[in-house]
Amino acid sequence: MALFSDYNFKPELIDGLLSMGYKQPTPIQEQAMPIILNKQDVIACAQTGTGKTAAFLLPIINNILNSDNRHLNTLIIAPTRELVLQIDQQIDGLAYFCGVSSIAVYGGNDGVTWTNQKNALENGAEIVCATPGRLIALLQSGGIDFSQLQHLVLDEADRMLDMGFFDDIKNIIKYLPTERQTILFSATMPPKMRQLANQITKQAQSINIAISKPAAGIKQLAYNVFNEQKDKLLDEILSNDDYQSVIIFSSTKDKVKDLERSFLRNKFNAKAFHSDIEQVEREAIMREFKSKRLRILIGTDILSRGIDVDGISLVVNYDVPPDPEDYIHRIGRTARAEKTGVAITFVNPKDQYRFLTIENLMGIEVEKPKLAEEYGATPLYNAEEIKKPSAKSKGNFKRKKFFKKK
Ligand code: AMP
Repeated sequence: MALFSDYNFKPELIDGLLSMGYKQPTPIQEQAMPIILNKQDVIACAQTGTGKTAAFLLPIINNILNSDNRHLNTLIIAPTRELVLQIDQQIDGLAYFCGVSSIAVYGGNDGVTWTNQKNALENGAEIVCATPGRLIALLQSGGIDFSQLQHLVLDEADRMLDMGFFDDIKNIIKYLPTERQTILFSATMPPKMRQLANQITKQAQSINIAISKPAAGIKQLAYNVFNEQKDKLLDEILSNDDYQSVIIFSSTKDKVKDLERSFLRNKFNAKAFHSDIEQVEREAIMREFKSKRLRILIGTDILSRGIDVDGISLVVNYDVPPDPEDYIHRIGRTARAEKTGVAITFVNPKDQYRFLTIENLMGIEVEKPKLAEEYGATPLYNAEEIKKPSAKSKGNFKRKKFFKKK
């Protein structure tokens, strides 16, 4: 398995990715980063949630740090203002210690913003992250010099085609030097998309990240609940003696510790497993669990990868993991080696979008049983109406000023 230390990244970039909490490259990162560092073109088929943004940002930021041409070095084009802001926010986080500047360029704001965006482009931010419509308008107004551009990224390119940006993109490319590295990410690759990809890249390397699918023997269920309903529901589920060997996942160590305390009160045979526990003790807990002397193991995602215990009858996700791959890993702890198992996920209103993303990636709709009436009202889950949380509310980092000076 690859490590971030394999890529010879600048130390200040490693500091950035560690501060974002990234420990290991995701599969798309593992495949795309060496190619981008090697200055080759890339056509990648990968969905949101796979870590695709960092897959292009990390090598690009590293290339910028090694480059003398930093004036408008990189242009990232994305279909929507939300996506532009999200990418810009990841640049903030990853390049936090690098002194690389970026600007988000999108329409629908006032004249002052137009002037700020134009000034930033004229003065040369290192990375420009833009929607096609606003960028083309700014380019047509003149005075913007992309002659030093080294990287062009098209993100969610299929969506841009669907939204009718085909001509805008071809128009923007006329303003760019032909000697550049072109990186295209798309969730799907219909023929029109492939045609555009081939027109704008040179000897591109293709990457296709197959979406993980959970083992067929896993029965998946999800309950739409409010946080206050989770503990009662968990007690009810655990009182079913058919579940002899159970893992409960939570994303935070604090919640894992809380659950252990409440299980002790309820006399369930349960132990917590997380990074604050010494290795020797962790091994002892794991032996107890494997030999079925311990019924319930409660853990963070350090438990989800790699543990190989047979005969786990139930996995409960006390919350929805941020990364869809983690969901697959978590529920994959049950139904190993062709056996069957049950995976139950608690989805609160805040986690609904995450869960929908997971369902979309797996290409299935998970069965959502209704809670008994005694639980009271439960949240609605209507896939059509679930909205992505705004970029602002997701950020770990304070938003920088609109344009950061070098
Ligand atoms: P994306 O597919 O780019 O939308 O990324 C999905 C989420 O995964 C984002 O919240 C990223 O910050 C996060 N992420 C990206 N790379 C990693 C990694 N190597 N380890 C953990 N999280 C990551």
